[in-house]
Amino acid sequence: MIIYKRLICMLTVYIFCSQSSIKAQGDQILDGIGETGLIARYVFDNDQKDWSRNNLHAEIHGDAKFVEDDFFKKVISLKDGAYVSLPSNVLNGLESISVVGWIQPEDKTPGTYLFDFGKSDTSHFFLVPFGTANSAEFEAGIISGKTENVILKAPSAAIEKYPWAHIAVVIDVSSGRLTAFVNGAAIKSVENINMELEDVFDIETEGKNKLFIGKALDDSAKPLQAKLHDFRLYRVALNPDQVQRIFENAIRKNNAVVNERKEAEDNLPKFTEETPQLYNEYLVSVEDVKLQTTIGNLPRLPRHLPGKYQAGIKGPEVSVLWPAPEDNHSVAEKGVYTITGSVPGTDLKPVATVEVLDSPEENTPARKLESFELDEVSLKENQAGQKTKFIENRDKFIHTLAGTNPDSFLYMFRNAFGQPQPEGAEPLGVWDSQETKLRGHATGHYLTAIAQAYASTGYDPELQQNFSDKMEYMVNVLYELSQLSGKPSAKSSEYESDPNKIPTGPGKSQYSSDLSEEGIRTDYWNWGEGFISAYPPDQFIMLENGATYGGQENQVWAPYYTLHKILAGLMDVYEVSGNEKALRVAQGMGDWVHARLSQLPTETLISMWNRYIAGEFGGMNEAMARLYRITGEHSYLETARLFDNIKVFFGDASHSHGLAKNVDTFRGLHANQHIPQFVGALEMYRDSKDSEYFKVADNFWFKAMNDYMYSIGGVAGARNPANAECFVSQPGTLYQNGLSAGGQNETCATYNMLKLTRNLFLFEQRPELMDYYERGLYNHILASVAEDSPANTYHVPLRAGSIKRFGNPDMTGFTCCNGTALESSTKLQNTIYFRSSDNRELYVNLFVPSTLNWKEKGIVIEQETNFPKEDHTSLKINGKGKFTLKLRIPGWAEKGFVLKVNGKPEKIAAEPGSYVSLDRKWKDGDLVELKIPFSFHLDPIMDQQNIASIFYGPVLLAAQEEGPRDNWRKIKLNAKDIGSSIKGNPEELTFEVDGVLLKPFYETYGRHSVYLDVSLE
Ligand SMILES: [Zn+2]
Repeated sequence: MIIYKRLICMLTVYIFCSQSSIKAQGDQILDGIGETGLIARYVFDNDQKDWSRNNLHAEIHGDAKFVEDDFFKKVISLKDGAYVSLPSNVLNGLESISVVGWIQPEDKTPGTYLFDFGKSDTSHFFLVPFGTANSAEFEAGIISGKTENVILKAPSAAIEKYPWAHIAVVIDVSSGRLTAFVNGAAIKSVENINMELEDVFDIETEGKNKLFIGKALDDSAKPLQAKLHDFRLYRVALNPDQVQRIFENAIRKNNAVVNERKEAEDNLPKFTEETPQLYNEYLVSVEDVKLQTTIGNLPRLPRHLPGKYQAGIKGPEVSVLWPAPEDNHSVAEKGVYTITGSVPGTDLKPVATVEVLDSPEENTPARKLESFELDEVSLKENQAGQKTKFIENRDKFIHTLAGTNPDSFLYMFRNAFGQPQPEGAEPLGVWDSQETKLRGHATGHYLTAIAQAYASTGYDPELQQNFSDKMEYMVNVLYELSQLSGKPSAKSSEYESDPNKIPTGPGKSQYSSDLSEEGIRTDYWNWGEGFISAYPPDQFIMLENGATYGGQENQVWAPYYTLHKILAGLMDVYEVSGNEKALRVAQGMGDWVHARLSQLPTETLISMWNRYIAGEFGGMNEAMARLYRITGEHSYLETARLFDNIKVFFGDASHSHGLAKNVDTFRGLHANQHIPQFVGALEMYRDSKDSEYFKVADNFWFKAMNDYMYSIGGVAGARNPANAECFVSQPGTLYQNGLSAGGQNETCATYNMLKLTRNLFLFEQRPELMDYYERGLYNHILASVAEDSPANTYHVPLRAGSIKRFGNPDMTGFTCCNGTALESSTKLQNTIYFRSSDNRELYVNLFVPSTLNWKEKGIVIEQETNFPKEDHTSLKINGKGKFTLKLRIPGWAEKGFVLKVNGKPEKIAAEPGSYVSLDRKWKDGDLVELKIPFSFHLDPIMDQQNIASIFYGPVLLAAQEEGPRDNWRKIKLNAKDIGSSIKGNPEELTFEVDGVLLKPFYETYGRHSVYLDVSLE
C-alpha cells in the first residue's frame, strides 16, 4: 500500500509544482539504462514517433486521438477499435525483452490486450491487464509452439488503484524468469521458464512479427479502450531497481542522464572471499617491485609480478591490483614513496617502491616502421586450398559491397541539399534514416570500405572496376553538393558564404535538428562555403550553443562523429585513387570546421568535447591532422588541436595531470567516444612531434590492456556505470563493475583499439602490442561476423550462455559497429607485415596465408600456413636482397619455437613475447620455417580469477552451450598441467573439458560461455 500512497503523494506534488514543462520529461530518453538497451520509445504526446535513436516509428490504425491529460498533459486515447502497430524489426537480435508503459483504462473489459507481439496468435507474448473471460486476473503470457506455455497471473487490483498505472513486463531469458511490475514494484514472477525468444518471435533482420498495442493478434478479441503514455521496449531484462527508476523518474521529472548514474546493476553471481582464485590458492609470496618515475608522472605499475608457489606448482606471474589515484599529487615532489597492492583471494600485499626523479626523460620515439599498402599484401587460401576465416569474412563483405547501390549512401546527402533522388534510389535504414541525427555516418564508412576494397581486389579486375566506379560516382556527387554550399543559387538571390554567419532555417527562429520531410531546412546557399554533411549545419551550431544528446529538435546526436567518418572516407579514396575532388571536398569542410572552432573559447571546447555522446567526435583530431599531413596546410593542424579532449588528455587547461601524466582520467567514460581520440593523439604526435600526445596514447593503451580488457580483446561493458558502452567505473574491476547484462565489448571499440595498437607499433616495436593485436583480431573482429553473410555484431556478450546477434546482412541499415565492420573486413591484411621506413627490415607480425609484394625491394614473399589450425608457418622468398627478417615470437609461446632456414635449424635464443632477427642477404627461393607449439593457458578476470577464459595458443576457446544460463559453467583442471584435462583435436581446434565442447570463439554461432568458473585440483 505504501507505494500507492507515495504515488498519489508524488502525483499531487507534481501536478501542483510542475505544470510548465511536461515535455522535459520526454527529454531524458535513458533513465539510467544504457541507451543501447532501449529499442524504441513511444511517448505518444502528439505523434507515434519513436523517441529512441533507432527511428522505429509506430503506425496508428483507426481513429486514435491525442488528448489532453491532467497528469501527462497530452496522451493517446485508443477507442472504437483504434490501435497502434510497431515495425516488425523492433524485435531484431533480442536477447531478452522488457515492455513498459503507462495505461489509464477507460473500460476494463476482460480479454482486451494492452499489447500482443509475436509471429502469430499461436506464437506470441501478450498482456491482458483485466483478465480473460474465464478469470478476472491480470495476465501476461508467452505462448510458443515449441516450449511449454507460460502464464503469469496476478490480481488486477493493482492497476485499478489509481487512474494511471505504470506496467512493466520483463522476459529474462538467461535467468528463465517472467516478471510483471505495477507502479514500479514487482507483483508476480514465474521462474524456471525454459525458452528462447526465437521460439516466440522472428528475430532475424527481416523479422515477420506483428506487434500491436491495444489489440490482439487474434482479430476476434475485443479492442482496448484506454489512454496510453510513454510506451517503451528494451532489449535487456530490466531489473527491479531499473523499473522503479523509470516509474519514479516519470513522476519526478528527473532528467539525469545515463553515465551520471552511479547505480550498478548487480546481478552477477557473487563469490565468497574463500573461493580459490586459480593459482593464487597455491601462492606463497609475491615479489615487491622498485621503479622510477619523474615529477608529475604517475609510475607505470606492472599488472603482473613474479610469485612463488607451493612445491610442484608452476603458476603464472601474479596479477596484482594497485590503487588508482585520480590525480598526480603523490608524485608532486622528488623522493621515494611506496604503494601497496593486493592479490585477489590472498592476504598478500606486494609493495611498489617508487623513486620520483626530477629530470624528466622524454620518450619521443620516431616512427620507424611503415605498413604496406593494401594492394601489396593479398590473402591466400591455406595449403590445402581451403578458405581461411580471413578470406571467408573478406569475401562476405566484398561481394555484398559490390552489389550495393551508391545512391542509397548518397540519399540523405541529396535530401539535405533538397536535390531530387535518381530513379531507384532507396534510403538506408537504422541510423541513416530520414530523421536520425547521425545520418551520413554509414556513407563515411562506405567510402573507406570501397576504397579499401578497390585497393585489395587486384586479384579480380572486374571487382576492382566496380569499386573504382563506385568511388568516382560517390565523390562526384559529394563534390557537386559541397560546391552548392554558401554560394549564389537559382533558388535565392541572397546567400551566406561565411560559416560563422549561418542564419537559422527559413521561417525558423532557432537552430533545429528536425530532419523530418516537413521540417528539414535545405537552404544550402546559407550554409557557408565548403559545407558537406547529410544534414544541415544546425547540429554543429547547436553543439557549440550547449545542446545535449537526445531525440528532440533542440538536441543533437554527434555531428562531429559523423563528419569524422565522411572526412576519413574522402581521404581514403584520395589516397588509393588520387581523386583530387575527394581531397577538395575534405579540405572545404576542413576550412568550414576551422572557421567555426577557431572562434570558440577554450571553455566552450572543453564543454563540447566532454558532453556525453553529443560531443563524441570520433577521430576528428586524427582526420584533421591527416589532412594537414596530406596538404601541408597549417590551419588543419591547428584545427586538429582544437579537438584536444583537454580534460582527459591533460587534466585541465594548464595540463596539470591527465593521461599525459599517466592519470586514469577515462574510467567510467564512454569507451568508443574516447578511443578514437587517442588514435588522434598519436596522429597529432606524428605530425606535431609534441611528446605529450604520444604519452596520452601510450598511457591509455597500457591502462586499457591491464585494467579494462576482457579476454576477447574488448574493453567496454560496464554495469557500473550502468551502460554497456562505458569503461568500468574503476580500473581493474571488471568482475565487480563490468560484464554488463546489456552486452559487453562494443565491436567498434575494438576496431579502434586495433587501429591504435598498430599505429603505436609503428613507433615502438613492443611485442605486447602485436600480442594484443592478434588477440583482438582473431577473438573479436573475426568472431564478429555471421556464419553465412556479412551481418555483424554490435555488442559481443560475454556472460555465461550468451549468444552473438548479427545485424545488417544486406548492408541496408547501419549502427556504428555495422559501419566499422565494413572497414575491418576490407583491410584484414593490413598488419601481417610491416617494413622499416628505410626498407632494411621486414616485420612478420601475423601468421596468415598471404603474399607480400615488397615493391621497393623487388621481393615477393609467400607465407604458407594453416595457422591457427597448425602451429607452424613458412615464408618463401622470391627475389633477392639484403634485409633483416623480424619474426614475431608470441607472448603465448611458452613452449618455445623452432626456426629453420632452408631446412637448417637456427639457434637463436628468444623469450616468448619478442621478435627474432634474421639478418642476411636473401636469395631467390630461400625458405624460412617457424614452428611455435601451442599450449593451453587461462586468461582470468583480474579481480575474480576463478572466472577465466581458456586459450589454445592465440585462440580463445568458447564452451558451446545448449541454452541460456544464469550462472557460470564450472570446470575442473589439473593444477600441474591444465592441458592434461582437455582432450580433443588440435587440427580442428575442437576440444572437450568436463563434458563440454570447446570451439574457437570465431567459429561459434550458437550459445556460448567465453568465461568459465575454473577450479584447479
Ligand atoms: Zn559501435
